Amino acid sequence: MAFVITSPCLGEKSGDCTDACPVDAIHEGDDQYYIDPDLCIDCGACEAVCPVAAIFAEDSVPEHEQEFIVKNRLFFRTPA
Ligand code: SF4
Repeated sequence: MAFVITSPCLGEKSGDCTDACPVDAIHEGDDQYYIDPDLCIDCGACEAVCPVAAIFAEDSVPEHEQEFIVKNRLFFRTPA
């Protein structure tokens, strides 16, 4: 499992999460920040500091934000 950044980050990009992450799993994209699911250790530090409550544990992502699970994964991979 990993934590996932969802739609409230779009256009917000406060970046507080990047300072909080102990393993540098959070990277900046054009429209939002993304969490590398292969590096995330599920500590929850980023979720606690996000000012717009955009970050969820993967199994707690709201139904209408599910597409962001895939979007976060694809940011770190070139689809085959
Ligand atoms: Fe980094 Fe922890 Fe957030 Fe994962 S849950 S992205 S390890 S701060």
